[in-house]
Amino acid sequence: MKTQLPLQTLERLASLLRSERRNQLLEHGLLPIQLEVLQYLSICNHYSDTPMGVTDYLNQTKGSVSQTLKVLEKKGLIEKIADSKDKRVAHLKVTIAGQELVGSLLASPLLTQAHENLDAVQSANINSALNNLLRAVQSVHQFKSFGQCYSCINHTKLKNGYFCELTKEPLTKNDIELICREHQPLEITQ
Ligand code: SF4
Repeated sequence: MKTQLPLQTLERLASLLRSERRNQLLEHGLLPIQLEVLQYLSICNHYSDTPMGVTDYLNQTKGSVSQTLKVLEKKGLIEKIADSKDKRVAHLKVTIAGQELVGSLLASPLLTQAHENLDAVQSANINSALNNLLRAVQSVHQFKSFGQCYSCINHTKLKNGYFCELTKEPLTKNDIELICREHQPLEITQ
């Protein structure tokens, strides 16, 4: 028989992490949603760094994302860069100041300290279980998976590089380590 999902445990962890994040952000005058956008833009590829990519990733309304982007731009944490092929498309790039801020807030001291007390097996089990839960939620509710190229059906490894079969464009080593809104997980098609 299946055990119940540990909802109370997940809620409690989420609440502790939210509270820690709020305190960290106070000194920077940022809201948690603004940091989430910055974090996303610092790890997504060039097919995903648009307002629509942010909207999909955060599952927020276009209006709310648009307000958040305006604040981040005003604070000098992101900038808009026109696409080299289609000037109607704007890419949202994290500025150096934005990267420094994300870098300084990336790790949760709460989780980092707790993680030191787990052994390798416990750590691997937690990673695997949380990844499986996330993939199941994304699959059942048809949320985009936002994965990396290595786990995408469109990814091809060439002799001298990488290639995306969807966009028909070459990918660099850096590209394939970033997350993508066009990602289609391998396991779903198997
Ligand atoms: S291979 Fe998949 S994840 Fe990578 S750029 Fe193409 S669609 Fe995106």
